[in-house]
Formats: sequence, structure tokens, C-alpha cells
Amino acid sequence: MNIILLGPPGAGKGTQAKRLETGRGMIQLSTGDMLRAAVAAGTELGKQAKEVMDSGNLVSDDLMIGLISERLDQDDTKGGFILDGFPRTTAQAEALDVMLEQKGLELDYVIELRVDDAALVRRVVGRYTCAKCGQGYHDEFQKPKVEGVCDVCGSTEFKRRADDNAETVTSRLEAYHRQTAPIIPYYENDGKLKTVDGMAEIDEVTREIEAILG
Ligand code: AMP
Repeated sequence: MNIILLGPPGAGKGTQAKRLETGRGMIQLSTGDMLRAAVAAGTELGKQAKEVMDSGNLVSDDLMIGLISERLDQDDTKGGFILDGFPRTTAQAEALDVMLEQKGLELDYVIELRVDDAALVRRVVGRYTCAKCGQGYHDEFQKPKVEGVCDVCGSTEFKRRADDNAETVTSRLEAYHRQTAPIIPYYENDGKLKTVDGMAEIDEVTREIEAILG
């Protein structure tokens, strides 16, 4: 099964993608994670992307399309993939259709996580992850059971994304509404779009997604 998780920053795409990875053996393809890895490694792509990411704007379509096309050629995507953060523009959605056809791949569902804007800033600004295993946490909504210790791997090191601050989140939300939300009708027209209430509890959102995937 190959799906897209669509929604604004903080909607829960990454959280749900991780659960699908564990439960179904699908693989999360997060363009944001790929770009952050490129920034950390100091590659040419990372150098080009860093400033744009810090400002909350979108990296160029050409770079992103090339990145995801190469990634889809790797063998670990064969058991099903979850696109998280791609496509983010109409041009990316159209290019994805072309590349999937060329690669002989099918998209099964596009799952939109719908969340109120007012809730997003609070969700994004408080979030952090375990530096070792990547488990997600939140200052208010999802604290580790023992303060300062990761529930999953016991690590005491955590990290926050450079762009998860109030100012950048506002730009990222604007970019979502201006450039990404317009692709929703594109998927509605081909009957692949399913909408889930992203304001529900994390477990409930997982249940709804599982019900769609069958
Ligand atoms: P994310 O982790 O999905 O929130 O992405 C973090 C940042 O990476 C975004 O704010 C963009 O600057 C950049 N980015 C990630 N995916 C894309 C994409 N598909 N197109 C353009 N920029 C992207």
C-alpha cells in the first residue's frame, strides 16, 4: 500500500507515519527529515535548503522532485511507502503522478489530517524528539513517563527542530494554505482523498487511518 499523509505542520503526519511503519512495515518518506539530514551532513542540498527552511518557506520543486524520485528507487520502498511532507505544491503533485507511472507504482490513498490553525502553533512550538530513537514528545501533551528519559530507548538526550518556533510556524502555516492546500481538490477529483479529524486523540486518528487502509 502506498499513501500520502497530507496536512499542515503539527497535524500529526510524522506521528502517524511512525505508527504505520511499526504496525504495517511500510516506510516513512519524510522530505523534511531528508532535508534536515542533508543540512546536518553539510551536503550541497543541505546548504541550498537551510536558509529556506529556517524562514518557513518551501524548497524549490525541482530539488524536491529529484530527491523523492531517487528515494522511490530504493528497495526499502517496495513494501509500501508513506509520503510525509511531499507533495507540497501542485507542480510536485503533478510530477509525482508522472514519476509513479514511469516507475510502475500506484498511489492507494491520500489521507488529509485536518486540524484547526489555532491548535497548530501550540502543538509545533512544544514538540521535541529523542535524539537517539526519534520518539516524539511534547512539553504539554506528551511528556515522557520519567522526566528527561525517553520512554522507548532510555536516552536522556532530546532535540528540537530549528524551525519549530512561533515565528517560523506562522510562515509555514501560510505556505501550507497558499501552496499545499490547493492540491487537496486535485486528489479529491481522482477519488483518492480521505479526510481524518486530526484534532482527535492520537490513538483515535490511528484507528481511523487503519480503518481506511483496511
Ligand atoms: P517538514 O519536516 O515536512 O515540516 O519540512 C520542513 C521544511 O522542509 C519545510 O518547511 C520546507 O522548508 C522544507 N520542505 C520539506 N518538504 C518539502 C517539499 N515537499 N517541498 C518544499 N519544501 C519542503
